[in-house]
Amino acid sequence: MNLTNYHSHTPYCDGRCNIEEFIATAIFWGFTSYGVSPHSPIPYTSSCNMLHERVEEYISEMNLLKQKYEGKIELYTGMEIDFFGEEWNTTIEYFRNMPLDYRIASVHFIPNQQGEYFDIDGNAHKFIKLVDTHFGGDIRYVVETYFETMRKMIEIGGYDFIGHPDKISMNASAYSPHITDSKWYKDIVHDYFKFIANKGVMLEVNTKAYKPHSYLFPNVQYFKYLKELNIPLVVNSDAHIPSLMKSGFREAYLLLKEAGYKNTMQLSMGKWVENPF
Ligand SMILES: [Zn+2]
Ligand SMILES: [Zn+2]
Repeated sequence: MNLTNYHSHTPYCDGRCNIEEFIATAIFWGFTSYGVSPHSPIPYTSSCNMLHERVEEYISEMNLLKQKYEGKIELYTGMEIDFFGEEWNTTIEYFRNMPLDYRIASVHFIPNQQGEYFDIDGNAHKFIKLVDTHFGGDIRYVVETYFETMRKMIEIGGYDFIGHPDKISMNASAYSPHITDSKWYKDIVHDYFKFIANKGVMLEVNTKAYKPHSYLFPNVQYFKYLKELNIPLVVNSDAHIPSLMKSGFREAYLLLKEAGYKNTMQLSMGKWVENPF
């Protein structure tokens, strides 16, 4: 199996180590290909997102590093692109014209009952306060809106794969324990994955929260269902520091194997191909 990761963050957004430190670690651990994916610029002020003014610098740094490490590791210039409805998403000209090797489509912001967008990706404490302050304490509304927003984003295309496809499960469970076991929640998720299978798109298995919180996104309980639906997967760590680059990988691949998966997807010579494990 080739060791790969296409989801990581550097100081261009909210990551903590520069790109070259990630590359050095990736080479040391024997990764065959590696992708960097800053949080995209967005039309709002956000300390977690890359500034529009730095995009060019990011692309040229990646181009230089690709030359420098040629033959040692395949490097890919990616971006994790946020969705704010029709005006801001993977399909707008701004992102289509950006010379990226791949695009991740992710939802970190959802609109409340008044149509105002809020970041639902913060820690549990922040999230609970946010739901009470800006969503009228209606956690079911938050969950439904999250999956609706994901569907809208998936529907329009313009990306290579979907980032952390059910990440709301962790914060929603902090707000309302066992919410993911309720029938309405499970029905939403089942329909959602069926919709994804019909669209024929690729999903990420995000391992970032596995070690600290025992969560994988998508949740492990759906792995067998994903296999039944034949949804292609790419395993990523969403690392913000190099030492967490393969955190949760061993467990994730083991659980995927148990669910019947025999391969995940990887970039090789610029194309998405199967990576048997
Ligand atoms: Zn993300
Ligand atoms: Zn990320």
